[in-house]
Amino acid sequence: MIQQNETSNAGYNTISDKPVAFVTGANQGIGFQVATELAAHRFLVLVGSRNLENGETAAKSIGTNACAIQLDVTDQASIHAAADRIRNEFGRLDLLVNNAAISNAGAPGRSLEEMIASGRASVSSIDEVRAVFETNVFGVIAVTQALLPLLREAPTAKIVNVSSGVGSLTLNADPAFPYRSGFGVGYAASKTALNAITLSFAIELESTNIRVYAASPGFTATALNNFAGTETIEEGSRNIVRVALEENGPTGSFSGPDGALPW
Ligand code: NAP
Repeated sequence: MIQQNETSNAGYNTISDKPVAFVTGANQGIGFQVATELAAHRFLVLVGSRNLENGETAAKSIGTNACAIQLDVTDQASIHAAADRIRNEFGRLDLLVNNAAISNAGAPGRSLEEMIASGRASVSSIDEVRAVFETNVFGVIAVTQALLPLLREAPTAKIVNVSSGVGSLTLNADPAFPYRSGFGVGYAASKTALNAITLSFAIELESTNIRVYAASPGFTATALNNFAGTETIEEGSRNIVRVALEENGPTGSFSGPDGALPW
């Protein structure tokens, strides 16, 4: 599966003969399901997990096409170590799925209603907003920057940022949008910022080999919403996997399970 990379200066690097995908936060939830499905297609999947043991358990259950990589998206040393490991052990990166995120930074076990209440603009804790943005926004910039050199070397490469319709300014500006009462300054605004970052990378990279997307899974039952979502992780992963596998989708697009979403 791995070949010696004759172009590496130390003769130490290796190159996977399969395209390599890295999914952040892939030890559970939608990330785990996306990793499972990518491994069942043509990818060698790197299962990002801030707790290595959890990542190893997830990779083992996915099978031989999966390998765990420790990554905390808020920890620059962890990001650099992951980037070095991918270069040294796999020699290539064709797909980055920025999936890791948190919905809040409060005590574990908050109900969905409590999460939404904690994000309200008038009362939200600034420390909590910062913590959510640290993971969902700054983490994505930092991980993407660290992995861009490898993505630039791939024949064609993709970045898929896992976003949400709850971050759409256009939808939330419409009084008929059913979820607009949940448009708070924490999680929802972090997904708006993620959309901006997606477009920013897409514009900068549009003349290169790298296409950049924002993709929403829809409202899925995971730990993120205390399992209040209405879709299964198989259903929620469908749009992310579709975008990841699609051959010629337009760079800089935002989609959900029912098609294009407005920014
Ligand atoms: P989840 O089950 O809670 O999974 C989140 C993953 O992110 C976990 O693996 C978690 O790791 C990881 N993570 C959190 N902070 C991290 C950090 N600092 N470094 C590395 N990994 C970190 O939630 P999910 O619903 O599958 O969420 C996946 C993506 O879908 C997120 O981007 C979310 O915003 C998006 N999304 C979800 C829904 C939904 O309804 N569920 C809707 C729209 C968008 P631990 O296991 O260590 O906590």
